[in-house]
Amino acid sequence: MGILEVKNVNKNFGGLKALSEVNLSVKENSVHAIIGPNGAGKSTLLNCLIGKLIPDTGSVMFDGQSVLGRKPHEINQMGISRVFQTPEIFGDLTVFENVMIPIFAKRDGSFRMHAFESVAHERDIVEEAEAVLADVNMLEKRDLHAASLSRGDKRRLEMAMCLSQKPKLLLLDEPTAGMARADTNNTIDLLNQIKAKRDITMCIIEHDMHVVFSLADRITVLAQGTPLVEDTPDKIKGHPKVQEAYLGE
Ligand code: ADP
Ligand code: MG
Repeated sequence: MGILEVKNVNKNFGGLKALSEVNLSVKENSVHAIIGPNGAGKSTLLNCLIGKLIPDTGSVMFDGQSVLGRKPHEINQMGISRVFQTPEIFGDLTVFENVMIPIFAKRDGSFRMHAFESVAHERDIVEEAEAVLADVNMLEKRDLHAASLSRGDKRRLEMAMCLSQKPKLLLLDEPTAGMARADTNNTIDLLNQIKAKRDITMCIIEHDMHVVFSLADRITVLAQGTPLVEDTPDKIKGHPKVQEAYLGE
């Protein structure tokens, strides 16, 4: 059984079937990509995983527990983190402080600035923050203000903030959308590094086939709200059903 098990999920918006009998099993410590043309239901599926949407029918099990009916922050506490398309960082704080916030919040269940300052020197929190920054190659930028970072580094920092919560499952919705090729390649390298260094499962929604084939262990192709085929990247390449789904894009 996978760490994430989606069974027979349906989601309608009025008369529109956004998701229809979706089944998905994501193996622990794998990178699972979900691809498909625009409007296939990828974001809808992701939103059903994080509690932003509730499926009409079906089940979503994570790590043996149902996520359905739970609020987004509760699902986050279960170990699912999501990387946002626009980095959500605190510009006035340093890189290091940005990473400490989620570590602290996870430990105490909430974040209070005065308490944050009093623990800023606690060894375990400092060590964890340093480890996460090392994983994203940002240790030497720890004292810079987040607002002064380049776009690529802001994304890196956001990734560090996600990782600092020690998620079991990291969800990424088109992490390279709008990026130039060089930034896209940096993101691929970063995600491959994280995959190698951490016990983490990633579920990545991506349009860019170069990214998908550089990262994924398994790929699910979604078309018109239904999984068409699920297989390894090698098998997916040139699969007639995949070509068909993308025709007319
Ligand atoms: P993808 O992310 O694969 O491009 P989406 O999940 O965003 O696709 O959308 C799937 C379908 O559901 C599309 O036809 C879209 O227009 C529709 N849709 C998505 N969200 C809503 C919503 N909140 N209300 C109505 N229709 C929606
Ligand atoms: Mg989308």
